[in-house]
Amino acid sequence: MSKPLLTADPQAGYLAHAEEIRGAIDRVLAGGRYILGPEVEGFEREFAAYHGGGECIGVANGTEALELALRAAGVGPGDVVATVANTASATAAAIQQIGARPVFVEIDADTMLMSVAALERMLEAMKGRVKAVVPVHLYGQPAAMPAMVELAHRHGAMVVEDAAQSHGASVGGRKAGTWGNLAAYSFYPTKNLGALGDGGAVFTRDAALAAKVRLLRQYGWRQRYVSELPGRNSRLDELQAAILRVKLRHLDSENAMRQSLAARYLKLLAGGPVRLPVTAPGVDPVWHQFAVRTPKRDALGAHLATRGIHCGVLYPMAIHRQPAYADATVKLPETERACAEVLCLPVHPGLETGDVDRVSEEILGWGRS
Ligand SMILES: *Cc1c(COP(=O)(O)O)cnc(C)c1O
Repeated sequence: MSKPLLTADPQAGYLAHAEEIRGAIDRVLAGGRYILGPEVEGFEREFAAYHGGGECIGVANGTEALELALRAAGVGPGDVVATVANTASATAAAIQQIGARPVFVEIDADTMLMSVAALERMLEAMKGRVKAVVPVHLYGQPAAMPAMVELAHRHGAMVVEDAAQSHGASVGGRKAGTWGNLAAYSFYPTKNLGALGDGGAVFTRDAALAAKVRLLRQYGWRQRYVSELPGRNSRLDELQAAILRVKLRHLDSENAMRQSLAARYLKLLAGGPVRLPVTAPGVDPVWHQFAVRTPKRDALGAHLATRGIHCGVLYPMAIHRQPAYADATVKLPETERACAEVLCLPVHPGLETGDVDRVSEEILGWGRS
């Protein structure tokens, strides 16, 4: 039996850089600073530079990055935040945790990202009550950023990009994460830039917003023991920051690997039994997932699993259908169709082109049977 293939493989990500990562861990252990020290500062500087300048604030995870970004953007209890329903429940959880209310915008049938036309309809229908828009760069495909930022700002809404799946992606040559007022990143181990534990960051080019996020992530302190704002504890730790500095150095080459695997899938599966992912013009995706579609998704997933190919389903249930956020009045047919049809094939830097050939042959064979 050939080796099992997984949708993501954080252990392979560690082993590929084991020596550098162990060196970084030893440096932190010997250094004696374990929270908000030189590694967090170094990572914040390097990840900001990766965006071509701006400020990065390390936080505890991606959900809290969204919460703090939204709070810095002025979103509070009772406010309305527009996002999509085919996302990690974390996106909705962050909105709800700060007392705001998520409203869900329909997706584009081809890209499965927030539809610009649907966003415009929502902003008009809500007549200035949408305080912020959270586009999700799902699967490493950035949403239609210039158009959405223009629309949101025209309607008085801030933009917080959910960039948890899009480290390094760009739109028109400009990095995802730099378009909105703020962006939230997750460094959960399976992400394109993954820690070996939890981690997250807020990115912004606005110095005042950055200063506010810095206060909010640590008890509202500017000066130690004096809370200026009702902040919380959401700190990135030194070990994760040191590991992320190693991983960041390899992000571009690992994304390039994902891009070449995706290009091979697109070529081998063209004309085959599944609908292939669609990338909008001018967009450079980073293939956090390679999401194909078929109404027989469960059958195909089961077929591949018997052959040692383990696919993911991101996400099987739209947010407004989940018990915690259920709202029967919400009708999003394209979103629900996507949730019923998507299947995420293995795509990560630990794979080889031969693995893509094997997955593709199995899918084509299944289509003929
Ligand atoms: C992973 C993810 C998050 C949450 O990040 P955590 O670090 O797990 O809190 C939020 N949004 C999206 C789209 C994600 O993929």
